[in-house]
Amino acid sequence: MCIFCKIVEEEIPSNKVNESDEFLAFHDINPKAPIHVLIIPKEHICCFQETPAEIMQKMTPFIQETASKLGIDKTGYRLITNNGEDGGQEVHHLHFHILGGAKLKWDHQKVDARKNI
Ligand code: AMP
Repeated sequence: MCIFCKIVEEEIPSNKVNESDEFLAFHDINPKAPIHVLIIPKEHICCFQETPAEIMQKMTPFIQETASKLGIDKTGYRLITNNGEDGGQEVHHLHFHILGGAKLKWDHQKVDARKNI
């Protein structure tokens, strides 16, 4: 069973931020910003590319509600999903990273972008 399914089943502990019947939000174990939370569907879906539109329709308000609970809905945040190998996805259960609590840098992206020009 995948690690995030184990978190859903509470076989592995997590620091929960928000929960509904279908979704769960918990703090990332290796935070890359002052606030770094992962938002997942409880159902196992491998990645964004395989995600039905109906799931995103329901997940969007859950993400927005989580941002409010974290107190970053007004100050802003970054929402990321890594998809597949080139996207750097390590856990193959759909998850959105919500990062905030500081003014986040974006410049590092330029290095990779220029490699292929
Ligand atoms: P990704 O590279 O997009 O697949 O991100 C996977 C994320 O899951 C990483 O940021 C990890 O730090 C995080 N992670 C892995 N195991 C756990 C865990 N048991 N609890 C919380 N976060 C985790």
